[in-house]
Parts: sequence; structure tokens; C-alpha cells
Amino acid sequence: MKPVTYYDLKYLPNSSLKEKFERNINWMLSLTADQLLYNYRKNAGLDTKGATPLTVWESPDFFFRGHFTGHYLSGASKTIVMLKNTDPKDAHINDLKKRVDDIVAGLEQVQVELSKTSEYPGFLAAEPEKRWDNLEKLRFNGNHYVPYYAIQKLMDGLMDAYEYTNNKTALTLVKNLTSYIEKRIAHLTFETIAKMLDTRWYQGVGHYVFHQEFGAMHRTLLRLYELTDKQNKDYFELAEKFDRKWFDDMLIKNEDKLGYYSMHSNTELVGAEGMLSYYHLTGDDKYKQGVENYMDWMHNGHELPTKGISGRSAYPAPADYGSELYDYPEMQFKHLSKLNGESCCSHDLNYLSFELFADTKNPQLMDDYEIRFANAIMAQQNNDSAIAEYLYNLSVAPNSVKHFDRGGFWCCVGSGTERHATLVDGIYYEDDNDIYVAQYFDSILDLNHRHLKITQDSHYPDQHFAHLTVESATEDDFTIYVRVPSWSKQTEILVNGKAFKAEPQNGFVAIKQNWAGTNEITINFDFELRYETMKDRFNRIAIYYGPLLLAAQTEDLAASTVPASKYLEKLTKVEGKNNFELAGTDVIFKTLPEIPGETPYNVYVKVPDEPVVKTIDAQNDSAEGTDSTHEWTLAVDPDKKNYLKITYQAINDDIYSFQIENNDDVLFTQTMTKEEWPEDSYYIYPLPEKVTNGHDKLNIQIKPLDYEGSNYDVASINKIETLVSTK
Ligand SMILES: [Zn+2]
Repeated sequence: MKPVTYYDLKYLPNSSLKEKFERNINWMLSLTADQLLYNYRKNAGLDTKGATPLTVWESPDFFFRGHFTGHYLSGASKTIVMLKNTDPKDAHINDLKKRVDDIVAGLEQVQVELSKTSEYPGFLAAEPEKRWDNLEKLRFNGNHYVPYYAIQKLMDGLMDAYEYTNNKTALTLVKNLTSYIEKRIAHLTFETIAKMLDTRWYQGVGHYVFHQEFGAMHRTLLRLYELTDKQNKDYFELAEKFDRKWFDDMLIKNEDKLGYYSMHSNTELVGAEGMLSYYHLTGDDKYKQGVENYMDWMHNGHELPTKGISGRSAYPAPADYGSELYDYPEMQFKHLSKLNGESCCSHDLNYLSFELFADTKNPQLMDDYEIRFANAIMAQQNNDSAIAEYLYNLSVAPNSVKHFDRGGFWCCVGSGTERHATLVDGIYYEDDNDIYVAQYFDSILDLNHRHLKITQDSHYPDQHFAHLTVESATEDDFTIYVRVPSWSKQTEILVNGKAFKAEPQNGFVAIKQNWAGTNEITINFDFELRYETMKDRFNRIAIYYGPLLLAAQTEDLAASTVPASKYLEKLTKVEGKNNFELAGTDVIFKTLPEIPGETPYNVYVKVPDEPVVKTIDAQNDSAEGTDSTHEWTLAVDPDKKNYLKITYQAINDDIYSFQIENNDDVLFTQTMTKEEWPEDSYYIYPLPEKVTNGHDKLNIQIKPLDYEGSNYDVASINKIETLVSTK
């Protein structure tokens, strides 16, 4: 099965997706080619032509510079394809094409100029070569290094300019730059490369290793290999130089150590994209399995209610990346102390869901895609602005505020600019002659080669149904598979107004018939209020209406005195909107895309503890000091889901950091300060099934963490309990 290509998709006129797409075009056209070339030209000592430099992560002295130009080339090139699909005479096509061509021509001059002095020809970046020298010498100065991240975005952007706008120079620049990278890397030992690419901040060796991001180098180099008809095996071999055996093993062996190593969410997410590229090129099933494992970890352990990821690290945070990291699986409560839900991750997770679905037909991927799209991605762009402004994250922390930023040029502004070109992606797949309809967002599929057109125009999920008009100019017997989301309990399907009775198989209902002429499919979804309890705090719920996550637009949302199910009864739907009034208050629950900028909102509602667990063992502290090992033997249920609950006692202003182990296996790392002290002084730790399966006891030790040369203490412990799921 294959996703349909960009060439077969169109935006539906007067749809919110089209509005966002057009706002993104205005945004791209508000920037000049000279601005986007500024840092590159400056790096080569060329005239910057009086351009105003970009800001923040693209400011002329910032170490991320250069990345946005790559995203821009991608966004502009794909936008050109989408515009041409609808109207080849659209005036914006020439405007954007001129930007792309001017940027590529400018970059060509930069590459020529830089090649005069660089160690090898072909160098092309917005930062000096010294950044790569330092990286190879592992000279990190406690800094965050991302030189490969920035050029990977550029390489992808140039390949998009080549593939989607036929700019041949763009491909030459990528080949030259790739040849430069090959030569640079050729003289490095395997060990040096391994250290350079090691993104595990904590490695169990008592110190944190520097952090760098190398973006999706695998995916990009393997794409170059494919784009050049697999003629140059060197590209494939260069991609392999970026392999990290420990990372591949972790995914393939299904051992989620992302939290233990305090890894960076998006860096490893695009690593999984690279693994999927290997699968596509080699057909080796272990790679597919590795990516499926990774997506299961996200679904079961790391996704926030928006289905986005990233948040708080388990460690005393190195530098200030406390909002971009993984924690241990199912540890969500800690994320609420910081920003979370980086937008780049939502875009990349949807890209990966979309690609992997074609290989697996796993409907879970498309259910999550829908929720992530309708909530996180649809909320990333400011609806109230003529020119796009993008969010850096979509936090679900209490009293979150959407800070839209037009001038920031963060990573997420880059990925937002790129991905808002192709919002109608991910809806359709072709499986031989059959069509999979995986999403119900407004769009037009136009498969010219088989004279088949499918229009979706119901403004879903604003409306609670999907409406598909299928137009086929030929007698055409094939199956249309329509997805029935797992949240929709009573779904009604009509074909040409007549009820179509069939149970979904693997998440899809198959409609097989002759589609000649015009036929209509209507799918009425079962929009009901429902809630999900946080995995490690049973007094917090997130409320959904169908696929839509609801957030209370207020600063301090009062805790509920009634249980979660009763709380839902206090919500009354606002006529004609997916909004709900909370009885006896003026609080309105809205969808995240509707929450305006600079306005506080709350995703989680505090409720009385949900009766999802019972205590099976409870003990007091085993030791006196804070610098020694504390030990307990605690009962667990060998057949059920178990949890540890530890109640702490704050004693002073120290930073406490310690590891919770079972028979010397680290289960969790916990860092605590007075400022981030947990509500009611306890944390709940969901125990991985493999730890308790078949066991009726655990030997728990808590040991102070020796980290970064600091010997941290264990926080005083009042009580330790084991809880077991009542399900
Ligand atoms: Zn980002």
C-alpha cells in the first residue's frame, strides 16, 4: 500500500486547512531571498545586500542558524505543487518559484566561495567549519551543538526544490555538500563518530555527556540515494556512518530507555524515521519492527493528551532543555511542571504515523494521527493573524498560554512553515486498485490517471460527520476502505443515502461496489464526551469530545468535588459549537485550535481519585540517612498492572536526585526540588510489566545519584506503597 502523492491532492476551497495554507504562503512571501541567504552569505564573507537578518535561532550569532532556509525551501517547493494542482496560473506560483530559484542561486555562490577556503570542496552552511572541527574533537564546552541538524534541513530543502520545482542546481549543491561530508567523515575513526553521535545525556556512568542533534541525516542521505536512482552506493554507505548500534538495538529489541538516558524527543524520533527509510530500501523486517516498537512506546508511554510528545527530563536538567525531553514511560505528571508538547515532534510523529501506516495498516496509527492533527497541529498556527505565526509547543501544563511568535525562527517555526504546505497529506492511500480513506479532513483527491475524484467537504471535525463524493468516469469495481475511529462507538455509514451495515475489520469498513458515475458516502460519528485518566496521577483527567481535546479557557480551573463521570454531566454543549459550559460558572471548554493567543487554558481537570487502583503493600522508610541506600521488599500482583507510590517529605532547599531500582535494575530516576515539589508530596511510578510479570515481590532499593560530579541525596521518604490495577 502507498500513500497518494502530493500531485494528486488539492485543498478544498473555503476550508480551514486552505486558510492555514494561504496564511503560510503570505508568511513565506513576507520574507525575502536575501534575508534567507543572510547567514550563508555572511559565513562566506559575501555581501549580504543590505538585508535585515532573521532573529532568535536564525540570528547571525546563534548556533542553529541556517536551518530555517531549508524548511523554507521545502515549504515553498511543496506549496508550488499544491497550487499548480488547483490552478497552474495562480500568481503565487511564480512568486514562490522566484524565491526558491533566488535562494538556490545565492547558495550556489556561497558554496563556490566557501569551497575556496574549506578543507574539502562542497562546504555549504550558515556556520563556520570550526563548528564541525569542534564536534569531531568532541570539544563541546557544555554547549548544545547542531551543525548537522541545520545542514540536514538545508539538504532536504534543496532536494525538495529539485524534486518539486525541477531546480537542477539544487540537486548539484546537495551532491557537492554530501561529497564534502563524506570526505570529512572518512578520516574519522569509528569510535570518534560513535562519540560524536551519542545523544544519551546520561549513560549510567555518573556524568552527562554533551548533547547534539544531527537531525534526520539518515532519512536525508537515503533519500538522496533514491533520488539519484540508487546509482551512487556511497550515499547509502555514508548514511550508515550515522548509524548508532545502541539506538538500533534499543528499538529492535523493544527496550524503551529513552527516559533512562534522558534523550531528546525529536532527535530520536527522526532517528526512527531513518530506520523506516532503511526498511523501505532493504526490506529487512527488523527495521519495520523497530519503528513499530517505537510508535508503541509513544502511544502507550510518552504521548500527552494532544498525542504530542516531549516534556520534563528525570534528571537535574542539563542546560534548559527541560521541555524537549523524554521521561520514563507513563510518567506524565512531572511534565506538568514545565512546557511540553514541542510542535516539531507533532509534525514528525504524524509524518512517521503516515509512512508506517502504509507498511502496517495499523489503525492505531491513524487514530492517533487524527487526534494529533485536529488538536496539536491545527492549533500551531495563529488563526487570528494574516501572516502565519507559529507556536513552539502546545503545552498541557496547568495555566498554559499560547505564545505565537512571528519573528522567532525556532525549530518549530521552521517545521511549521514546511508542514503547513501539505496539510492534506495523510488522508488517502492506494492499495492496488483499492482506496483507503484514513482521515476525514476537507480535501480533494484527484487521481487523474484513473479518472477518479473524491471530495471531502463536511468541515469535520467541526461537523460530526464525513461526507465523501466519489466521482469515477469509468466503470470501476474496487473497494473503498473507510476508517472507523476507535473513539466512535456507534458509527453509521450511508452509501447514496442507504445504510451500509458492516463491522469494521482492523479499524476499517470495506465498501466494495462499482463506483462508476457519482456516489456519496456519509459517515456519522458518535461524538460523546469521554475522559482519560492520567497514567501516573489518578486525580487528573483530560476530556475529549470525539477526537477533540477540550481545554478550559481560564487561569485557575477549580478542582472538581464530584467524580470524573459526574463532572462530564456538568458540561453543557454550546449550540452550534464544539464548546461546553461548566455548570454554575462562566468557564467555557474549547478546542485547542480555538483558544486565542496569550490566553491561559487548562487541559487537565483535577478530580477526586479515580478508583483505578488499590494498595496491596505499604511500608515506612527503611533507613535513616539521606545519603545511603534505602531498601524494601514489597508485594506485587504477578498478573496485573502494578505501581509504586512514594510519599516524600521536604526538608530543605537541596536538589534531590536518586534512582529507584529493583534488584539493581534502574526502574526510575527522580529529581526533586522545593520549587517543583509534587502536589501532596507523592509520585506514582507505573511499573513496566516485564518487571512484575510472574513475580509476587519486588526488592526495591533507592540510591543517591552520583551525577555530574555532584552526589545528590535521597529525599526523605514517609511511605512507600505498591498499588495494583483494579481492572
Ligand atoms: Zn521544534
